[in-house]
Amino acid sequence: MDGHNHINSSLVSINMSSQPDNEPILNYEASSTERENLEKEIKRQLSEVIEIPCIINGKEVYTKNTVTQVVPHNHSHVLANVHLAGKNEMEEACKSAVSAQKEWIDLGLEERCKIFERCADLLATNWRMKINASTMLNQSKTVFQAEIDAACELIDFWRFNVHYAQNFHDDLQPLVSPEGMVNTTEIRPLEGFILAITPFNFTSIAGNLPSAPALVGCTALWKPSRNSYYSNYMIMKLMMEAGLPAGVINFLPGSGAEITDVALSNPDFAGVHFTGSTGVFQGIWQRIAKALPNLKGYPRIVGETGGKDFIVAHPDCDEKGLVVALLRGAFEYQGQKCSAASRAYIPKTVWENISGKLITEVEKIKIGDCNDFTNFMTAVIDQKAFDKITGYIDRARGNENCEIVVGGQSEGKKGWFIEPTIIVTKDPKSESMVEEIFGPVLTIYVYDDDNFEATLKLCDESSPYALTGAIFAKSEKDIQIAYDALRFTAGNFYINDKPTGAVVAQQPFGGARASGTNDKAGGPLNLLRWISPRSVKRTNMEIHDWTYPFMED
Ligand code: NAD
Repeated sequence: MDGHNHINSSLVSINMSSQPDNEPILNYEASSTERENLEKEIKRQLSEVIEIPCIINGKEVYTKNTVTQVVPHNHSHVLANVHLAGKNEMEEACKSAVSAQKEWIDLGLEERCKIFERCADLLATNWRMKINASTMLNQSKTVFQAEIDAACELIDFWRFNVHYAQNFHDDLQPLVSPEGMVNTTEIRPLEGFILAITPFNFTSIAGNLPSAPALVGCTALWKPSRNSYYSNYMIMKLMMEAGLPAGVINFLPGSGAEITDVALSNPDFAGVHFTGSTGVFQGIWQRIAKALPNLKGYPRIVGETGGKDFIVAHPDCDEKGLVVALLRGAFEYQGQKCSAASRAYIPKTVWENISGKLITEVEKIKIGDCNDFTNFMTAVIDQKAFDKITGYIDRARGNENCEIVVGGQSEGKKGWFIEPTIIVTKDPKSESMVEEIFGPVLTIYVYDDDNFEATLKLCDESSPYALTGAIFAKSEKDIQIAYDALRFTAGNFYINDKPTGAVVAQQPFGGARASGTNDKAGGPLNLLRWISPRSVKRTNMEIHDWTYPFMED
């Protein structure tokens, strides 16, 4: 037991932890040990087909309803058969999460922190290659994209969440305890379980969404994405090896709509921790509103959703840096990052200077299997994404305002490959300039050099999203103008850099408007959403007279 659960004020304070460092990124250069180990692990994972069960109350549950998990860049290759949860399993998982909470709270923050620190240590060491290889194969990431996501970011989430949880405790204590009394605040978790619904594109986010609420004492149902069951299952196994008690996080591959219904029909549903598309999140929010009268409390609703992330260049900017930001920002991980640069506003003179270079560099990008380490891009996640993205490209091809200046081809037979594609449009409100595509497609609007401020306004008003964005400009004055004009256009704002690649504890991540509730995953703000403090006043004076002085004659 730690001080969080005691009434004695001297026990309220817990050990403050020293600040962790971000996990160093391994390079995987040819002939390095890490490269050799990773290649061995990829081969091993490709040589077998595993069965993935649900994990309910710490037990493996195999069902009759299975789907396969394939490799997106070689989609005839099956990695796993996944046993899906049906209504019964989902109901069982709710029960197990509810009954696990008391013991989990009693374990205390310090012990819970130790478990997640162990998770981070295992991922940094013995499990690193396993998790990276599974993310490369399951979600088609290059080694670098897998390393910064599945290894480094998740290690950082776990280590920094522990640090934040241990330290915000003291800041939340009452400032005043007059003589004769002691005022304290107990950092209680929410009463009940959290439904964590996770996206395919980041293994780290998938691991973080159930574990952040769990760290502060909630229990969780974890509904992984259809397209990342394999790597996410490895994360679940890692957490179990680190000592996560049964029932605290229940792993439930299956239908998102069905699990939401089952969770919402349980009065102990205490909140949802979601990352995914805007439409799905809005639907969940509406269903929660309807279910409200049957719930014990007001659930916390935390969701990070879509983006239409931008780069605005000023006529006076670092043009070489701009080319790198456009290329990396738009095409790394095939543009399947919520933060990917997918629209750019470039002044005419700058475009005249950089377009040739940008096109030449994009033409050099190699696409293919993640096992070939010379590839910069691999496949998009599935047939649905392939059809959606190529649909946008086809419609741009047929739009007289749009010109595809590089890329535009695709090939889906072996893997779902789409070329990095740049569309130049004369219409700043054309479809690919305002809608989230979530693929390797960048649309550029070329504006008159004199229209910088009007273009900032256009950027602010063109899309419902407000996740990430970047300004490229040399003078402080122009940077300040953009900083002010784009205040609400992005929750993560970059100056002279690409709008992707946020690092835990460096650029807390999240957006507003249609991009989410902006609760900044990986930071103290997010953890605070999963607590419901109890204020405790303890009087040490014995009060035996009920009258007040004003009542005397
Ligand atoms: P998605 O919305 O298709 O799926 C996300 C999760 O929701 C999955 O687990 C899915 O099974 C589940 N789901 C689908 N329909 C559901 C329903 N009706 N009810 C309940 N759950 C349901 O998103 P995706 O394709 O996995 O991920 C890509 C999206 O996520 C993009 O829009 C991207 O911008 C966004 N994203 C945002 C952030 C961020 O931090 N803002 C980070 C990563 C991804």
